[in-house]
Amino acid sequence: MKKIIGTLGSHCSLQVLKGAKDEGFETLLITQKKRYHVYKRFGFIDHVMLVDNFRDILEPDIQNRLNELACILIPHGTLISSLSPDEIESIKVPVFGNKLILRWEADRNLKQELMLESKLQIPKTIKSKREISDLCIVKLHGAAGGKGYFLTSDQKGFEEGFSKLVKDKIVTNENQLYIQEYVRGVPVFLHFFYSPISKDIEFMGVDRRYESDIDGISRIPSKHQFNVSIEPTYNVIGNMPLVLRESLLEGVYEMGENFVQASERLVPPGIPGPFCLEGVYTKDAMFITFEFSARIVAGTNLYVSGSQYSDYLFKNGMSMGRRIALEIKKAINKGKLGAVLT
Ligand code: AMP
Repeated sequence: MKKIIGTLGSHCSLQVLKGAKDEGFETLLITQKKRYHVYKRFGFIDHVMLVDNFRDILEPDIQNRLNELACILIPHGTLISSLSPDEIESIKVPVFGNKLILRWEADRNLKQELMLESKLQIPKTIKSKREISDLCIVKLHGAAGGKGYFLTSDQKGFEEGFSKLVKDKIVTNENQLYIQEYVRGVPVFLHFFYSPISKDIEFMGVDRRYESDIDGISRIPSKHQFNVSIEPTYNVIGNMPLVLRESLLEGVYEMGENFVQASERLVPPGIPGPFCLEGVYTKDAMFITFEFSARIVAGTNLYVSGSQYSDYLFKNGMSMGRRIALEIKKAINKGKLGAVLT
C-alpha cells in the first residue's frame, strides 16, 4: 500500500508536507479545528484530520485511522511539547527517525550524557544556587522554548528569579530549575541530516533565533535600561538565516559525526534523519553546545527552497522536510524502510 506522510499541524508542518508532496507522496495534516482556517489555504495538503487537541493522537481510534491510511508520522517540536516520552513511545503509528531518542532530548540528565558521549564541549552545570559565582542562565526542565529563563550572577538573583516564577505559577520547587554557565558569544543552530541508507551525514543549514524580548533590548537606550527593571526572556518568535565562515565547517562535520556515532552507541538505532546542535560560538570560535534537538527544528523553515549548504549537495532546492521524504522514498525503493522508522 502506498505510504502517506503525516504530521501535526504546527511548528514545521508546512515545510514537511510541501517537501513530501514534491517527492511524490500524498500528505496528511493532523491539526486542531481552530487552526484549520490557516492550513486549508495550501494545495499540497491532501488529507486533514481535525482534532480538539494534539494529545488526541494518543486515541486508539485516531491511530487506527492513520494506520489504515498507511501514514508515516514525522515528529517535530509540537509532538514533543504535547506528549511525554512514555506517550510518544506508546504511539502505534510508524514514526520517522528514532522515537526512543526523543526521551534523551526531553530529559536534561540523559541529554547531558549523550552530549558528553559525543565529545561535545558543553557549558558547566552549577549544582546548587550556593555555587553561583559568575553569570549563569537558569532554565526550566523540558522543552519550554526559552520561556521563563532568567540570568543571574549570584544566589540572591537566583532566589528573586525563582520567587517570580512561583508567583507566576510556572514552578513550585527550586529543583524544577537548572543552572548553567552563561556562555558569552553568539548563539547558532546547526541543522544536520543523517542517512542510514547512504551512511552519510549532511550539513543542511544554519540559523539564528529571534527571541523576545532579549533581541529587542539593544533597541532601548541604556539610560532607559537602567531606569526600568529589565529581565530578558528568550521566547522564540522566528529565525534568521546565517552562513558560517567556511573554515568552521571542518569542526561542524566532526561534531555531527561524533553525535551520530554516540547516538548509535547509547540509543540504538541512533539518529536516522534530522537533528540540530544548538550552541554558542565563543570569541575564540569554539562551539559550546547547550542543547540538541533529536528531530527536525523550526529553524529549517527558512530553507523551504534549499539552503546555502543543501545547494552544494542537491540539484533541486532541498528543504529538510523534502530531505525526510526523499529518505523515505529511497528506503522504500531499497526495501529498507525499517532502517528509518521506529
Ligand atoms: P534553549 O531553550 O535552551 O534553546 O535556550 C533559549 C536561548 O537561551 C538560546 O537561544 C540562547 O540564546 C540562550 N541560551 C541557552 N543556554 C545558554 C547558555 N548556556 N549560554 C548562553 N546563552 C544560552
